[in-house]
Amino acid sequence: MNIPLFDLTRQYISIEKEIDSAIKRVIEKGHFILGPEVSILEEEVASYIGIDFGVGVANGTDALHLALLACNIGAGDEVITTPFTFIATCEAISYCGARPVFVDIDPRTYTIDVDRIEEKVTGDTKAIIPVHLYGQSAEMDKIMDIARRYGLKVIEDSAQAFGADYKGKRLGGIGDVGCLSFFPTKNLGAYGDGGMVLTRDKEIAEKVRMLRVHGSSKKYIHSFLGFNSRLDELQAAILRVKLRYIDRWNEMRRENAAFYNSLLKGDDITIPYEENHNRHVYHLYVICIDERERNKCQGYLSERGISTAIHYPMPVSNQDTFKYLGYREEDLPNSHKVSGEILALPMYPELTKDEIRTVCSNLQDFLENRRKS
Ligand SMILES: *Cc1c(COP(=O)(O)O)cnc(C)c1O
Repeated sequence: MNIPLFDLTRQYISIEKEIDSAIKRVIEKGHFILGPEVSILEEEVASYIGIDFGVGVANGTDALHLALLACNIGAGDEVITTPFTFIATCEAISYCGARPVFVDIDPRTYTIDVDRIEEKVTGDTKAIIPVHLYGQSAEMDKIMDIARRYGLKVIEDSAQAFGADYKGKRLGGIGDVGCLSFFPTKNLGAYGDGGMVLTRDKEIAEKVRMLRVHGSSKKYIHSFLGFNSRLDELQAAILRVKLRYIDRWNEMRRENAAFYNSLLKGDDITIPYEENHNRHVYHLYVICIDERERNKCQGYLSERGISTAIHYPMPVSNQDTFKYLGYREEDLPNSHKVSGEILALPMYPELTKDEIRTVCSNLQDFLENRRKS
């Protein structure tokens, strides 16, 4: 039995008719860029999150980049974030000419350690980007409190957490700006690239709207240097169909996670920790296994047809791109430790109980063999 890490075809089959007719509708209209599908999706997503404005952009990386620009982050500024994220979070900071400042993670939730943020705030700090990693919220109350006290913007990287809650509030709608990615494997995924900026600040929304079309609010009149970063009509039409199912799909992910937990509890691995006041949406189901065994375990599962992945094999601070910042392993010990231990197991709404049982029994065989040797 082959069990992939993600499987997008099962989901397509379940909504095939609706998707096909949405695509047909767009092609027949012949309007492909910034038409009605994008503006309706922007309203639907904003209302789902419970916020005033959504602005569709080309991808999640651009959502972060344009959000930072709209918050007037630029050269000489510092932005506090976590090194335990996809590199895009930090690239977006650098695109603005600003400097990423890394704070280590909480070893249980893998999100930014809120007790270590304040010591990193300087006169140049302008913003904090919490990353809701794997589908679980960062500790937002404390982040918002620090931001208010120091006058910082909070830009949520919600790329992995569409539909997740923090104390009953939808992620992406808590900070000054929320950034979404519609990369195909994200919980709400398009059939190509896509992203969105969420905000209740009209000025930020207007600025992002202009940044995505060459700094223009009126055709061929350009107020400042902008970009070509638009969500296209086909992707928007597809996302509108999928948005209707997202709560059910996230619930199925949660059920799958609970089933994994029940089978893996008591084994010699760490299962995901879900904070009581969080509603985790399990973009990824990630376990931790002894660093010396992790790669062997991945190989063992792979030989048995089970795909796993490592998000991410090193903290961003260790990537060549960001080595110039000069962080050492001892500055970010939890991020380094966890990146050596994590392993993402197959996770998607349509994963079956049998498949989960197969993954777990193979994993348990590996652990058993290890004990014997
Ligand atoms: C996917 C992702 C992004 C970037 O999204 P793209 O749409 O691929 O550009 C940013 N941050 C995090 C945490 C992500 O997982």
